[in-house]
Amino acid sequence: MSDEARLGAYLDAAETRQLAALAEFVAFASISSSPAAQPAIARCADWIQQQARAAGFDEVTAFPTSGNPVVLATLASPDPDAPTILMYGHYDVQPADPAEWQTDPFSPEIRDGRIYGRGVSDNKAPIMINLNAVRACRELYGSVPCNLVYVIEGDEERTAEPLGEFSRDHADLLAADVLHVADSWMHEPGVPAVTIGVRGMAALDFSVSTARWNLHSGIYGGAVPNAVSVLAELLAGLHDANGRVAVAGFYDPVAEAADEERARWAAFAPEPAAYLAETGSRYLAGETPYTPLEQIWARPTLEINGAWGGFRGEGIHTIVPASAHAKITCRLVADQDPQQVIDQIAEHLRLHTPVGAELVIESTLAGCAPLSMPADSPAVRAAAAALEAVWERPAVVGRAGYSVPAAEVMARHAAGNAFLMGFALAGERAHGPDEHFHLENFRKGIEATVGFWRGYAAAS
Ligand SMILES: [Zn+2]
Repeated sequence: MSDEARLGAYLDAAETRQLAALAEFVAFASISSSPAAQPAIARCADWIQQQARAAGFDEVTAFPTSGNPVVLATLASPDPDAPTILMYGHYDVQPADPAEWQTDPFSPEIRDGRIYGRGVSDNKAPIMINLNAVRACRELYGSVPCNLVYVIEGDEERTAEPLGEFSRDHADLLAADVLHVADSWMHEPGVPAVTIGVRGMAALDFSVSTARWNLHSGIYGGAVPNAVSVLAELLAGLHDANGRVAVAGFYDPVAEAADEERARWAAFAPEPAAYLAETGSRYLAGETPYTPLEQIWARPTLEINGAWGGFRGEGIHTIVPASAHAKITCRLVADQDPQQVIDQIAEHLRLHTPVGAELVIESTLAGCAPLSMPADSPAVRAAAAALEAVWERPAVVGRAGYSVPAAEVMARHAAGNAFLMGFALAGERAHGPDEHFHLENFRKGIEATVGFWRGYAAAS
C-alpha cells in the first residue's frame, strides 16, 4: 500500500474520533474579549494541552501572560538534520450573538458536509488539522519528519500584546527555520494557496489649526485661513497624478516584484470587472502601471480613512473653520519600516503645512512590519507540492494585502521566513453568524500537512 493510501485508510478509521474532538473544541466559548468567558478560556487552554499530548507532542506547557495562557507544544524529530517549523494558531474566538445564528454557536452541528460553530473556521479546525497530522504521523510512521514548535495563543481576536510578551520572554524556545501560520484561507473553493507575503501597517492621526475659534464668514471670510481647505490641500498632496504616494522616501525600501513572479500572478489575477462586482466600487483607482492584484499584493498604500472639520449639522452655518482632522493608515511592503513611514509622513505634512498654521500629530501606531519570503524556498516548494498532490491542481503561491500582526511577532524567530497555509474559505463567515468549516478541507488539510512535513524534511 502506498503511503498516501495508508494515510487515507487511517483517516477513514479516525474520522469519527477526529470530528468528535473538533466538536468538543468548538463547544468552549473561548471569547477572549469577554471577561465572563474567562472560565471557558481556562478550560479550553487545558483541553488543548491534553489534545497536544494525546497527539504525541513531547512537551506541552501553558505559559501565563498578561492575557490568556499561551500553549506551547514541542516535538523533536528523530532525524538530527530535520528542519524546525514554528507553527502558530489561536484558540480564542470572536463573540457570537445566538439570535443571529441558525443553531447555537457553541453547540456545533454537522450538516451538508460542513461543521457549524463559532471559531471553527477561525481558527479551531485548522488547529485540529495540525494536531491530527501529528498524531497520524506518530501512529503511521512512528515519528514526525520535522521538529515542531507549536504556539497556540488565546488573545488573537483581542490584542497582539500577550503574544508579544511571550515571544520576547521565551525567544530561546521558539527558534525555527520557518514559520507556518495556519490562520489563513484557501485561494477559493477547490484551489489551495500558499501565501508568502502579507503587508505591514502604520497609522497616524493629525489635525491642523488655523485660528483659535471658528470665525464669522461674513465679517472675516476672505481674510483668514480656512482649516478645512488647508486640510484638503494637505490630503490631496499625499498622492500624485499617477496614484503614487508623494511622500519623500516612501518607496525607497520597496523592491519591485520579480518579473517571473508578476507573470505567475497574472495567470490567476481576477478581471477588473470582478473587482468592481466584488467591491461595489464604481471604478478602479490606484498606482499606475500596476494591475489591481499587484497593487494589493506588492505595492504599499497610503489611505485616508477619515477627515472632518467645520460645520456638519443640518442647514447652513456661515463659519470659517478653525481646525480640521484626518486619520491615515498605510499598508506596507518589502523592507518598509512602520515607524520610518510614520516619520516620513509627519515630515511631509510639516513641510506642506502653510506657515502660521499649526500641525499636530495626534497619535501614531507602528502596527507591524510587512513579511515576505521567496517562492523558491524549500518550505514553500514543499507546501505547494503537498497541496497540489492532495487537491490535484496547482496551489496559488501568492501574497495577500492584509496584515497579520501575530505572524510578524512570530516570524522574527524564523529569520523572517514566514508563510501562511490554511484551509479555511473566505465564505465560511469567520467573525459572522453561522460560521462553518468544510469537512472536505479538514481531511485534505491533514493529508496536505503530513505531505508538507515529509516533503520539507526530504528537501532539507
Ligand atoms: Zn484567526
